[in-house]
Amino acid sequence: MKEVSSVDVAISPIEKFQEYLATRGKRLTRERMIFVEEVFADHEHFDADTVIERVSRRKDGRSVSRSTVYRVLSLLEEAGMIRKVARQNDRDVYEHDYGYAQHDHFICEKCGDLIEFSNDSVREVVEQIAAEHGFRLSHHRLEAHGVCAKCSAPPQRRHRKLDMI
Ligand SMILES: [Zn+2]
Ligand SMILES: [Zn+2]
Repeated sequence: MKEVSSVDVAISPIEKFQEYLATRGKRLTRERMIFVEEVFADHEHFDADTVIERVSRRKDGRSVSRSTVYRVLSLLEEAGMIRKVARQNDRDVYEHDYGYAQHDHFICEKCGDLIEFSNDSVREVVEQIAAEHGFRLSHHRLEAHGVCAKCSAPPQRRHRKLDMI
């Protein structure tokens, strides 16, 4: 399995988002900017609460309202910068779709873990099938469900008193 890595992008997430907002006649407010900075601060999967928490820990961060957070998340999604990858404990889990290499996911049905992988053969097969259909591919998204190694390992046998006699 290859490590999924970040890719060089021509413009920063903030600039990219600013461009998108401009096409919609919207401005990048300071509140939105702080929020976008925190969303792109690291490449981990995240949900709305993760970002609210990070913003509130910043010196210049005020408490952002929940409705603002959901609004910005859906704007970022429309801009093609983030995408929903799963739903865990009734929360949408997002990841970056901008500045991140194409990759696919295994999703554990027991613990909800997301395992990322990137595989050239998968990409080639999808490209080949697309070509057969005369389909112009922009990107693909593969999601495989099952049980992760941790969850399928047999439970550790507890030491019984009997063993120690
Ligand atoms: Zn699991
Ligand atoms: Zn991912």
